[in-house]
Amino acid sequence: MPLLTLLRVGRLYTPAPVDETDILIADGRIAALGRDLAVPEKWPVTLIEAPELTAVPAFIDQHVHVTGGGGEGGCGTRCPEITAHEIVSMGIATVVGVLGTDSISRTPADLLAKVRGLRAEGVCAYMYTGAYRVPPPTLTGDLQRDLAWIPEVIGLGELAISDHRSSQPRQDEIERLVSDVRVGAMLAGKRGICHFHLGDGKRGLEPLRRLLTETEIPADQVIPTHVNRLRSLLEDAANYALTLDACVDVTAFEDAGEGLSAFDAVAFLLERGVPVERITLSSDCNGSLPEFDAKGEYLGMGVARNTALIADWQRLVREQVLPLEQALGLISGNVARVLGLQARKGRLAAGFDADITLLDGELRPQMTFVAGRCLYGAR
Ligand SMILES: [Zn+2]
Repeated sequence: MPLLTLLRVGRLYTPAPVDETDILIADGRIAALGRDLAVPEKWPVTLIEAPELTAVPAFIDQHVHVTGGGGEGGCGTRCPEITAHEIVSMGIATVVGVLGTDSISRTPADLLAKVRGLRAEGVCAYMYTGAYRVPPPTLTGDLQRDLAWIPEVIGLGELAISDHRSSQPRQDEIERLVSDVRVGAMLAGKRGICHFHLGDGKRGLEPLRRLLTETEIPADQVIPTHVNRLRSLLEDAANYALTLDACVDVTAFEDAGEGLSAFDAVAFLLERGVPVERITLSSDCNGSLPEFDAKGEYLGMGVARNTALIADWQRLVREQVLPLEQALGLISGNVARVLGLQARKGRLAAGFDADITLLDGELRPQMTFVAGRCLYGAR
């Protein structure tokens, strides 16, 4: 990998549109943005020119079943692992790996190994410890220790609530887990996010509303996901975000069924007055899309992919629901902030990680740089 790269593009969004068109990358980070940037003649620099492309902060997907999810229909329905190519070809530089329903045949140790494997291939990968279940499976036998000692662990998730596949956690159990994550994360200087899977149960967001109103836990510690799986849940999510100053994560379902697509859900939340900064998008990819009948009987299953994430995001810009600079927040800046990574990710600026996606005129990712290394696309 070259130590110095000079990237010349046609346009640049930091996420704000700026006049600069050159990015100087030094040892994986952005050294400078400018116009007609040059380095001393004898310095070894790799020049990449892409005048037809637009540089934006690379995307961050905070909910990826990197080891494969599923299994709700027996061992024949376990989903496959994701590859590094499937991540970076969508313009995504950073993923957070997550376990789901199955924490018996999949463990936090498998997840950590896969996260480290992706890192070895150049992708920036983190993980949540735990799974749907309470008590959560851990790496060290203790939630606080996982947060404090394992650098890749940035939180707990996806802990299932209001779902027939959850552990039906009591309110005091939820409170204890979130507190443990908070303190463990403090000891390591992390945000310590608690990423909650919302099912279609009638309690909806009520357990999180109680958590944030009855305890000292701040709203930025908690992120509910899949809030668009039902229209009623999305209504509840808009109210939750507005009354508690909280963030909500929308899942880019390929087939939203009784819920709303990511495109429709973001438009809905904005219409209800939820500030765009409090909304994030994630893919849930390589998770299962199981179908159950009204009695909870398993009917069949598909495997989620991350293509809908980018397609729905592109639609938000194309159909002028949001300008590009604001839409970028949904899959980069807002996500970095939610995860506590905002000092290094989610923006193109000097000192930030050189995680850069180059988009064509149709907003399709053409090149993805992670820490200055081109992992997708070629010149
Ligand atoms: Zn989930």
